[in-house]
Amino acid sequence: MEQKLVAVSVNQMGFEYDIHSLVKAFYPECDVKVICAEEEKECSSPKSDDMEYSSSEGYPDLFIRFEKEEIYLSLASVGEEKNTSCFHCKKAEILSGMERTEIKNILKQLIYVSLSEHTGKQLPWGTLTGIRPTKIPMTLLEEGKSEEEILSYMKDTYFVSDRKGLLSIEIAKREKELLSTLHYKDGYSLYIGIPFCPTTCLYCSFTSYPIVSWRKRMEDYLSALEKEIEFTAEIYKDKILDTVYIGGGTPTTLEAGELDRLIGALKSRLDFSHVKEFTVEAGRADSITKEKLEVLKKWGVTRISVNPQTMKEETLKLIGRQHTVEQVKEAFSLARETGFDNINMDLILGLPGEGEEDVAATLAAVKELSPDSLTVHSLAIKRASRLNRWIEENGITALNNTDKTMDIAMEGAESLGMVPYYLYRQKNMSGNFENVGYAREGKFGIYNILIMEEKQTIVACGAGTISKRVYPDGRIERCDNVKDVAQYIERIEEMIERKKELFGDS
Ligand code: SF4
Repeated sequence: MEQKLVAVSVNQMGFEYDIHSLVKAFYPECDVKVICAEEEKECSSPKSDDMEYSSSEGYPDLFIRFEKEEIYLSLASVGEEKNTSCFHCKKAEILSGMERTEIKNILKQLIYVSLSEHTGKQLPWGTLTGIRPTKIPMTLLEEGKSEEEILSYMKDTYFVSDRKGLLSIEIAKREKELLSTLHYKDGYSLYIGIPFCPTTCLYCSFTSYPIVSWRKRMEDYLSALEKEIEFTAEIYKDKILDTVYIGGGTPTTLEAGELDRLIGALKSRLDFSHVKEFTVEAGRADSITKEKLEVLKKWGVTRISVNPQTMKEETLKLIGRQHTVEQVKEAFSLARETGFDNINMDLILGLPGEGEEDVAATLAAVKELSPDSLTVHSLAIKRASRLNRWIEENGITALNNTDKTMDIAMEGAESLGMVPYYLYRQKNMSGNFENVGYAREGKFGIYNILIMEEKQTIVACGAGTISKRVYPDGRIERCDNVKDVAQYIERIEEMIERKKELFGDS
């Protein structure tokens, strides 16, 4: 199936990314090309040859022109005989001396109003295309603004809907309270990456390798990890460890003995006496065994996740998760029997072929298990995933996420006694919605908030992980580890050197 194109021409550099994200949100089924032609062109009558590419039939070309104190936007369509008809023209004022952020907001408002009128669509998050919409209410709350002021600001500046504005304020308030118990200045959190999975899911864009190919080198991988852990323990011996998260990939693809070795190494080298949360993603039901759960329990893991994504057998097969619904139920029961009282389940809305009834059925099945938290994702279409090819072959119309499915998930979570506590967005999300974490009181995933709000240093060990140092003035610096597992093992001393450079003077 041929991919449709929407072409945008702009005469000033610096806003291509923002333009691309917002136009793409209106036309998720299209490839969006932003062409920057810096020489000034007449706005009112764009010619078809102004643009290297033209939009596909049925889609408008967008022409954006920055002129002295104004931005002009025209939507145009190119007729059969290469005649351009300009059917929509708007302008907005910009003042000299305006900050880049202000200009960006005005530009995005202009695009939003034009495309909203043209398509008849309203986007739930308005012009917001970044991944952390809660950062805005969080910052304003810290400045002492009232909830009414924050909501008005979000509606007026970003055209956010009432519902999403209120949701982000509610979450920001809860996050603020939860994070207040952490040691920002003298503390840190630790992430351990296990980049192996039983199979690769259709939508996966994470660093993940099939476990069968790496079984024989697991000893080497764990040895490399131990060197990084050792280094972290030494360099941060005077810091307080607040949370620990072992993620991936699927950490429970490790054998019970390997998990025992890894967690044993963590416990023997680091001081866990202040750790508020110790999470291990048990993720895939086909990787969970009683023996592994017992190892996690023995070492005091406080929170695990058993992720079905959907409880529809047919979809599980289609998305390449080689486990059944029954296996999810068995793994969950096994985890409860082993004594875990904080179990998260991840769900994805907008999976291929799934509609409202399927989401309702998944929520009903999940309700019977009664997890302690639910993370509800809207399917994100990532460039690096196999899902892109699937869409090329099957079209995007089979991916449906709607207000209704979002409501079904929210009501399901509420009926389990949960409240929303963290939220983030990704590029190219189905329905342009968000991912929301819901949890029962006392079962919140603090690390999840930390990774989004970027308020605390996170030391990350393992292939493909990124460490983040947060300075007292809010500045953030990062260093990454190579993604390739063999390279990671071979170049472990270099990974440690990178960490030394970032954290050396902490
Ligand atoms: S379980 Fe997660 S990390 Fe593993 S393949 Fe699926 S999406 Fe990727």
